[in-house]
Amino acid sequence: MAIYDSILDTIGHTPVVRLNNLAPRGVEIFVKVEARNPGGSVKDRMARAIIEAAEARGELRPGQTVVEASSGNTGIALAMVCAQKGYPLVVVMAENFSVERRRLMRMLGARVVLTPAAEKGSGMVAKAMELAEAHGWYLCRQFENEANARVHRETTAREIVVDFAGRRLDYWISGAGTGGTFAGVAQVLRAERPDTRIVVCEPDNAPVLASGVPQPAPVAGGWATSHPLFRPHPMQGISPDFIAPITGAGVAAGFADLIEPVNGGRALTAARALAAREGILAGISGGATVAAALSLAERAAPGSVMLCMLPDTGERYLSTPLFADIPADMDAAELEISRSTPGFRFDAPAVVVPAPAAAAQPAVVANVEAAVPDPEMASWVDAAIHDPGEPVVMFALEWCEFCWTAPRLFERLGIRFRSIDLDSVAYQAGERGARIRAVLKARTGSPTIPQVFVAGRLIGGATDLIEACRNGSLARELGQAGIAMPGCADFDPAALLPAWLHPRRTAA
Ligand code: PMP
Repeated sequence: MAIYDSILDTIGHTPVVRLNNLAPRGVEIFVKVEARNPGGSVKDRMARAIIEAAEARGELRPGQTVVEASSGNTGIALAMVCAQKGYPLVVVMAENFSVERRRLMRMLGARVVLTPAAEKGSGMVAKAMELAEAHGWYLCRQFENEANARVHRETTAREIVVDFAGRRLDYWISGAGTGGTFAGVAQVLRAERPDTRIVVCEPDNAPVLASGVPQPAPVAGGWATSHPLFRPHPMQGISPDFIAPITGAGVAAGFADLIEPVNGGRALTAARALAAREGILAGISGGATVAAALSLAERAAPGSVMLCMLPDTGERYLSTPLFADIPADMDAAELEISRSTPGFRFDAPAVVVPAPAAAAQPAVVANVEAAVPDPEMASWVDAAIHDPGEPVVMFALEWCEFCWTAPRLFERLGIRFRSIDLDSVAYQAGERGARIRAVLKARTGSPTIPQVFVAGRLIGGATDLIEACRNGSLARELGQAGIAMPGCADFDPAALLPAWLHPRRTAA
């Protein structure tokens, strides 16, 4: 337990954890859980190191914009570092990396510029260079920056050496993206744990390192040419379409004792098994190191001890093939559990529990059923729905996703509207919200919210509004009020309902 001065001080010192259920008998497999870094990945280490090295060298001025190409984790890590230190950040990212990464970076205050998937990793690096040059921004150059491998020598490797002091460590297994983790950790292990075999895993269909084919020289004006043996693979973050200089230097220095091919499907299966059987959420590149360990375990001497890097968390892959087969709806087994007791089911009517007989009701009007419409509020509602300045009025609840269907539709159609949020602070004094609700219930015959009016005429609730949009009656009502409305023909307004209303909740 400790109190830290900054989120950046919580980077590193990640736990090493034994796999109790996945490791075959006679082989011990440990994983180093880099998801425990504050930004959720191993790249936090490098992001802080690069920015602080640039500050120390005077290459990065206060307030100067930082730019970098990233498949996501570096961008998120840099966004965290730049948010804390106050630098604007632009991340360049190929469009095919998972969307949750972009949104995380933007949440952390960064700007994200996408590049076409067809231009691959080398394209996004070239774009970042172009932007840095044109605008005078500080380019991190993670693929070449000396701070990258250095921080892994100084932190990741030291942690491993300390954690395994006096213990056996036969294999250390990593992928290589920039190669910072591989080259940095390998250099220290070579010197201090010469018995540890260093394993670099790479996709079996893209044996860029295993082939021994050198990285082609960049074409004029470009940063890197795609390696001829590169093929697309699912292991985001490792094995880009070129041999990164740090990786190349590490291999040339003889740090890689073994280059282990890993099948994409096996990497995904291993990541899923880590989650379901060990309770460890890791990304696909972590699945790849564990898949490599499992295949090595079949050949390794009994009693072997392995350590796999898990560079990030599985939560970063919700929109990727890792989660493709994880359903959102109940499957047959879950439905059977649901049906095993009578209540709260989708396939049976709700069980009505009678109200306790003489229990005293609290004396608040918030109970809409009990509220009697009062004349003062009735005339207020009349004035609101007949206000010529605001012909489109909706009565809503502030945080009700169902209510949000109406503003989403109006925004989509470019129609101005007034939202009267009955449960907001503004309508709580004197129970005004509840009194207005009682008026609405008497007037519309429906106790539900939202209720939408156009020039004093009731359209109805969210689903009525969608139907009115589809059948043209909304356009008619708006037209009579002198408001033009582009048609609903080019999209299905029902798509604007909350997401939880869309899925089938019952399996066929
Ligand atoms: N896995 C993932 C998910 C990554 O984002 C990265 C970083 N690109 C790596 C592995 C590889 O780390 P390194 O850049 O240190 O080789």
